[in-house]
Amino acid sequence: MIVQPTRTRRERDYPKILATTLNGQDRMGTLGWLAGIPHDRPFRVQGFCNPSRRTRDAAIKEFLETLRRLADQWIASGKEQLKSIGEQPWTRNVLWFSDDYQEPIDRTLRKFLDRYPLPIVPDSAGRFAVAYWEPRDAPWPFPEPALEDTLAKARDLAIIDFQKFLESDCPQQLFKCNECGKYFALARKPREVIQHGAYCKKCKSAGGARRVEDKRNAEKEEMLKIAAEAWMEWKYSHSNPNQLEWVARQVKKRCRGEIQAKWVSRNLKKIQERVEALKNAKG
Ligand SMILES: [Zn+2]
Repeated sequence: MIVQPTRTRRERDYPKILATTLNGQDRMGTLGWLAGIPHDRPFRVQGFCNPSRRTRDAAIKEFLETLRRLADQWIASGKEQLKSIGEQPWTRNVLWFSDDYQEPIDRTLRKFLDRYPLPIVPDSAGRFAVAYWEPRDAPWPFPEPALEDTLAKARDLAIIDFQKFLESDCPQQLFKCNECGKYFALARKPREVIQHGAYCKKCKSAGGARRVEDKRNAEKEEMLKIAAEAWMEWKYSHSNPNQLEWVARQVKKRCRGEIQAKWVSRNLKKIQERVEALKNAKG
């Protein structure tokens, strides 16, 4: 066990480091090491061996699944509970749970501490610090440990790595792209509500296009609604003989843009559908 004081773990770029790992972009050797599989030794030592490939792959899979689940739950805690408002990363917390995530992260951490009570020790400056559990550098024993034990260790390593991330300066800066599912870190702490989902740099332009389209659709719907209401209000008179023109004027009064009778006739079917809906709603 290597004892390291907490303070050295408060790395600014931890969200970025974690995103790389979550995306599986680390080298195989690094991923294996993170999952508790030591680097291969070039020569054999009595009583130790190199882990089998099967064991390494299974441990990496277990480690990544655990880490991703924790990250997803953490991100969801600032998103799902206030779905109607949008994503608010500063409300992320470890107490949140849902049907999909039945155990709060808080509980996962407590269970970890039950398994490995971490001692508190004075660091080099005399401050009290947590002595982290770090079993990664131990040589691989022979005969190989039971696979289930190796997997349990990989899960615990994921938990401890995720806890280190929570201790970092900015666990609110990790995101998962709504489009491609890749994890990424923002350079700054987000301060505004993210209303249309978070997107990585690559997908961001696609997200921008979608936002414009959403807005356009909402505007169009609003115009059709106003037109339908006006359609019902219209009464023939000498000054307003033409229903299409009168409706167009009402829409123009309340919406941006040049609305003419042509627009009303082009959208007449849609307007009449909304007129029917309004009539039905009124009974
Ligand atoms: Zn993306």
